[in-house]
Amino acid sequence: MKELTKTGLDFLGDVPWGTHVCLFHHTTEELLEVLVPFFKAGLESNECCLWVVDESLGDAPAREAIAKAVPDWERYLASGQLQLLLRTDWYFTDGVLDASAVVQRWLHKHEDALGRGYAGLRAVGCPCQASGIPSEECIAYEEQIDRSIGNLRAIAMCPYVRGQWPPVDLLAVFRNHRIGIARKGGSWQAIANTGRLQAEESLRESEDRFRLATDATSDGVWDWDIPSGQTYYSPAYFRMLGYESGELEYTYHTWADLVHPDDRVRAIAVNQECIDNRREAFEVEFRMRAKDGQWRWILGRGKAVTRDAGGKALRMVGTHLDITARKRAEQALRESETRYSSLFENMLNGFAYCRMLYKDGGPDDFIYLRVNGAFGKLTGLQDVVGKRVTEVIPGIQQAAPELFEIYGRVARTGIPERCEIYFTPLEIWLDISVYSPQQGYFVAVFDNITERKRAEEKLRAANAQLAEALAQARELAIRAEAANRAKSEFLANMSHEIRTPMTVILGFSDLLASPNLPYQEQREFLAGIQRNGRALMELIGDILDLSRIEADRLTLDRVDCPLRQIIDDLLSVVQVRADKKGLALEVDYTFPLPETIHTDPVRLHQVLVNLVGNAVKFTERGSVRVTVRCTRETDHPARIQFAISDTGIGIPADKIGELFEPFTQVDGSATRCYGGTGLGLAISRRLAKALGGDVEVTSQLGEGSTFTLTIDVGSLEGVRMLQSPRVALTAEEQPSSTEHEVPPHGRVLLAEDVPDICVMLRQILQRMNLVLEIAEDGRLACEMAEKSQAEGKPFDLILMDIQMPRMNGYEATRWLRQHGWKGPIVALTAHAMAGDREKCLAAGCDDYIPKPMTAERLRNTLAQYLGRAP
Ligand code: ADP
Repeated sequence: MKELTKTGLDFLGDVPWGTHVCLFHHTTEELLEVLVPFFKAGLESNECCLWVVDESLGDAPAREAIAKAVPDWERYLASGQLQLLLRTDWYFTDGVLDASAVVQRWLHKHEDALGRGYAGLRAVGCPCQASGIPSEECIAYEEQIDRSIGNLRAIAMCPYVRGQWPPVDLLAVFRNHRIGIARKGGSWQAIANTGRLQAEESLRESEDRFRLATDATSDGVWDWDIPSGQTYYSPAYFRMLGYESGELEYTYHTWADLVHPDDRVRAIAVNQECIDNRREAFEVEFRMRAKDGQWRWILGRGKAVTRDAGGKALRMVGTHLDITARKRAEQALRESETRYSSLFENMLNGFAYCRMLYKDGGPDDFIYLRVNGAFGKLTGLQDVVGKRVTEVIPGIQQAAPELFEIYGRVARTGIPERCEIYFTPLEIWLDISVYSPQQGYFVAVFDNITERKRAEEKLRAANAQLAEALAQARELAIRAEAANRAKSEFLANMSHEIRTPMTVILGFSDLLASPNLPYQEQREFLAGIQRNGRALMELIGDILDLSRIEADRLTLDRVDCPLRQIIDDLLSVVQVRADKKGLALEVDYTFPLPETIHTDPVRLHQVLVNLVGNAVKFTERGSVRVTVRCTRETDHPARIQFAISDTGIGIPADKIGELFEPFTQVDGSATRCYGGTGLGLAISRRLAKALGGDVEVTSQLGEGSTFTLTIDVGSLEGVRMLQSPRVALTAEEQPSSTEHEVPPHGRVLLAEDVPDICVMLRQILQRMNLVLEIAEDGRLACEMAEKSQAEGKPFDLILMDIQMPRMNGYEATRWLRQHGWKGPIVALTAHAMAGDREKCLAAGCDDYIPKPMTAERLRNTLAQYLGRAP
């Protein structure tokens, strides 16, 4: 409901601000009758009162009339609350009525009045009175006033002289006012412009509704009365810019001043186009300064709702929408688009955006929609956009089915995947990340990782090799460690095996040196020395054998020999030992057996002695049984098998495999119960193999073992087969010794630097009736030999030690041969390893006797040469 103000006229009462009244009078008296109380009420209500006085009335009568009613009127005039203006000055510019300019003037006065603190503006004036102005201009002016005044804190009264215009024009005047006043039947009456009021009421209602609606929306709504510049801004409009409702003036300039200077010309121009009827409605974006000084982006929409007869817009309404957020988002989008498209183009990864094509529910083909530069560089494929992959890479479905599956799955499910695959058609490795921006489409971002993969493969291969090498090294280390341990044990055991007999030998030798030793004791001591000396020799023999075998220098001497002889020789060695331990030693023959076999009897004997010796050694109770049988397979040479079974300690299963390795013993520790060097089985197996067979073993720990020796004995053709033990045991006696019976004689030169050996040899050779002369080194030997030859009495034989000072045995022998020495030279040396014999023979020796040697061996050899001596 609008605020009311007093009119001072009984018949009119209080009227709301914005009321536009027309007064129809006949005389000046009638006019004053109304105007004087009207102004009086205004002045008393602290309104600014403006009276545009008609020339026909004049300034003075107007003053008079006011003075009568308002005693202190001059004070009002002086303060400007009451202003009397002349009609011609007010309305006309160069004699022409410019309605809009006059409306502006009124608005200015209204603003000024409010600015100066008056409650409102009360105006009286009319351009038409007796002015000759055409009535339609006046009516148009009134129309403008009527439209502008509604929103102002103003009331206006427009006096018209009755009879001056035809009634139709006066009616038109009346139509542009809310109330008409006229004298009727001697009294003044107010006539409400009902139709207009109703229209206004419904307009107000709809305006109220409109405002309610606009207040509720976040859009700022404006309603611009163009002639007056008055502009309604909705509360949301103010809120949008951070202001309270009414904090800014409701004028056009409020908007225009807040628009960004850069946008102002454009925004105003668009408005102007609409005003000028060059467009019906407009839409324009511009920035406005908010209360906090920030610029807000506004989308302004407007439309002219009323136009004058010439089409000029009189009223425009529209909305202002804050689109700052949208603008920022657009800006961000633009920036990110720029960023991403530059990223997309410049990234080193290949990028392909594709649409999947399905057939029978499965992925069948795809079309390249977009690819970047790196795509071409990495794949070598050009101009693919718009093409199907089957067109670009024919046969790709068959060549890379897994790729199709992945692309199809991602395009269908939308779940991103990553894979590394070898892309056969292009022969490259790809690392592909696939995602789907929308159903049926996929993006593949990939990198060519062929180099990396190759490097990885190389690395993997190198790693595998390294792992293998490591495993081998570990294996070798383990073996080396085991060998090392075995060798350490061997050395410890060997030392023990050598020192024990040596202790006996040295001890008995000491005792022998005692004076007046009874003959019986002398014999005992000597027997002890001989026994232990022989044990030592056996040990040394084993070592030499192994060294020979390992150096592949083993030579076999195969002859036909009686089988019974071999067994007898075996028993002659081991029977004593078995007897000593109270063990039964039995031989079982499985007939038929050949009477003779073709083999190396010495080596066979060596193996058998070792196996049966071990059986006796590792058995405390029970028996040792040797079973002999002959096996004959067609197309194979005959074989003889010796199975040696004992009831001894047995061998743990996990040790059996190692036993045939040199230096290996089941118990190699220092605390072992059984002596030995761990060489016997190693030598035995190697010899057995050399004899065309092998040694195998089965054993039960704690119960006993069976070692089976098999040897090849060649063809049995023509060999008598023995069928029973009796025949076997009565086989013909074989000569048991091959000893040389011819006694040696002659003069021998011994080249030897060790005095003890010289003494010992002199004793032995004297007992053989040989004459001995001694040279202490090789050079002396050469001189003496040369001298004997020069004297025509050359030595019959030279015994040559090898390791000597000044000139060694090899050098001396070579010198002698070079200087024409024809006589026999026999090397006598402690160099008894594999190959030493050959070296001596190569230097020119006739024979080789390894130290230590028995007197018998020495005699036999010497007899061989000296027997030939003249
Ligand atoms: P040595 O007997 O000198 O130690 P060998 O090579 O002849 O060396 O034997 C190696 C090892 O084999 C022996 O130390 C022993 O532990 C085991 N062995 C050999 N024969 C037998 C056997 N008949 N019964 C139990 N253990 C045996």
